[in-house]
Amino acid sequence: MRILLVEDERKMASFIKRGLEEERYVVDIAPNGEKALFLAEINTYDLIILDIMLPDTTGFSVCKDLRAKKIDAFILMLTALDEVKDKVLGLEIGADDYLSKPFDFDELLARVAALLRRKRLDKNPVLKVADLELNQLTHKIIRAKKEISLTAKEYSLLEYLMLHANEIVTRTRISEHVWNENFDSLTNVIDVFINRLRNKIDRGFEKKLIHSLRGAGYMIKE
Ligand code: CA
Repeated sequence: MRILLVEDERKMASFIKRGLEEERYVVDIAPNGEKALFLAEINTYDLIILDIMLPDTTGFSVCKDLRAKKIDAFILMLTALDEVKDKVLGLEIGADDYLSKPFDFDELLARVAALLRRKRLDKNPVLKVADLELNQLTHKIIRAKKEISLTAKEYSLLEYLMLHANEIVTRTRISEHVWNENFDSLTNVIDVFINRLRNKIDRGFEKKLIHSLRGAGYMIKE
């Protein structure tokens, strides 16, 4: 899951980014409204965390512009303004949720997870493909009742594939959702990570779950 964090206070931004990365999210930072709109147009984010007080504009204005550009990522507003009318305004112009500063990091995580789960109808945190299970809350991976340990990146990649089980997932889509801005798409990094996942998920099993579709991408299916 890839998140754009729009926050001008550097310390705050790197603190939130680090915390989110520990929870297996992929994070880009935009320090102002202009960069936020630019990044949101060239990348595909699942969620945008948007501070209201920005140096060049306000989060309200960025939120309006994002929706006008048909960017449909979830938007979570961070506000030091604790007034009801500001919250209402945020929700009216297309934000999905808001959180008042100062906030508890655990609360931010809970809001982020809740918004991202909204995309899925059943809200069950456990994704399943055949005998493979991935728990989005505990990050536990189990195949045939045995726990498998993955690195943060391997986890993000597997989660993305499982969220789109039975669909062809192209390398471009993978790079957009699992890697951040610093990713060099000319490398074969994705293939390397797919191979590592295969070694951990499929090796030793007769039924392979991760499939390559030549020229198209990858698919996870029974
Ligand atoms: Ca700010």
